[in-house]
Amino acid sequence: MSVREGSLEAPTRHPVAWKTPDFWNELLLEAELERIFDICHGCRRCVSLCNAFPTLFDLIDESSTGEIDGVAKSDYAKVVDQCYLCDVCYLTKCPYVPPHPWNLDFPHVMLRAKAIQFKKGSPTEFRDGVLSSTDRNGKLATIPVVVEIVNKVNHMPAFRKQLENHLGVDAQAWVPEFARKPFLPNAKVSAPHPVIDGGRTKGKVAVYSTCYINYNEPGIGHDLLKVLDHNKIPYQVVQKVACCGMPKLELGDLDAVEELKNKNIPPLAALARDGWTIVTPIPSCTLMFKQELPLLFPEDQDVQAVKQAMRDPFEYLVNRQKDGLLKTDYSVELGKVSYHVACHLRVQNVGQKTREMLASVPGTQVHTVERCSGHAGTWGVKKEFHQTSLKIGRPAFRQLTEHPGGSPDWIASDCQLAGRHIEEGLGDKAKDKIAHPLTLMARAYGL
Ligand code: SF4
Ligand code: SF4
Repeated sequence: MSVREGSLEAPTRHPVAWKTPDFWNELLLEAELERIFDICHGCRRCVSLCNAFPTLFDLIDESSTGEIDGVAKSDYAKVVDQCYLCDVCYLTKCPYVPPHPWNLDFPHVMLRAKAIQFKKGSPTEFRDGVLSSTDRNGKLATIPVVVEIVNKVNHMPAFRKQLENHLGVDAQAWVPEFARKPFLPNAKVSAPHPVIDGGRTKGKVAVYSTCYINYNEPGIGHDLLKVLDHNKIPYQVVQKVACCGMPKLELGDLDAVEELKNKNIPPLAALARDGWTIVTPIPSCTLMFKQELPLLFPEDQDVQAVKQAMRDPFEYLVNRQKDGLLKTDYSVELGKVSYHVACHLRVQNVGQKTREMLASVPGTQVHTVERCSGHAGTWGVKKEFHQTSLKIGRPAFRQLTEHPGGSPDWIASDCQLAGRHIEEGLGDKAKDKIAHPLTLMARAYGL
């Protein structure tokens, strides 16, 4: 068979065969890691994407043979630990992804290694379990009085040092505040607008709010509802749902991912079958339903139904605009917006819909930055990775300040966690400038 380099054909993502015994076989995993690491060594395109590739190439270059056979198998985990499953290497760089016969899926081999590591247990498992239980943390922290205490101590250097020493959460890293009033119980009920379907869009929207919007920044959720209401799109906020499972996936805890899937998918599939478009305001959660769960549970028809109904909010809004069903009665110019495209949105392959939407607001100049922010969910707050996460984010931080029109009025990322990481990286330069694109849309409408 001839081996042709290039990605002219659309990549085919194969399901993750995690229910088979081979998936969990460590010798088979080691052989697969050796195979793909050797291909990457000969290619090296991804060297600037994250710290996984430089770690791999340093191990090879410093080995006795200068080849992958000189690297101890026990060092492979050092590469795996640096991967936060952003998927960017697979979807934007790699010419050897399927259908190429080399069948290279770097992130999914990292996921397999993480899953095997997770099953075996690790010294950081308690910390990792706490950080990835976003739903449970939110429920605890938003109990009245507790929320005040949690927010206060999170700003106390002595407490943060203790947290770093005992839990491994970097004392300098930004950690989210908890909202006094979570989103779900306070979301406004939709007005009884008529359902108007367009050629590209369904006329009613179900909002899967996400843990972060529910417990940390509910204002973004309220802004989404305002934008929908202003455009006379009837909506409902899905109430009985849990975390999407992305933080557990990043840990390799696939059983927890399945548990969460079993909670979320039945109500979401019922909505999908009833003709609702489902949107989530955090790209990682959207990606979980669009890509990761369908690949983990390829036979589950409910999962596939949710995948078909799931949209990024700006993907929906731009298509609504193309249907001629979105208002353009903007009353506020946004000025200079530096816009960061989150990795988990880039890999959804929907184009730059947020940029398109913001740029359609009169008096708005959008400067787009596609570099990784380095935050990567819970990865960037861990003590052992925090400095690396800032280093990875540095080119993005710098480029976001370089709006061609001068100092930006706003810095916006589809992923608000990335936005807050950018805020940490830029310090005073980002003061009062970080705003989610949905908040900017609500502002542009004067809502
Ligand atoms: S998935 Fe992201 S973090 Fe992992 S190796 Fe690829 S680019 Fe790096
Ligand atoms: S993942 Fe693909 S593009 Fe990236 S270094 Fe490896 S072979 Fe090259």
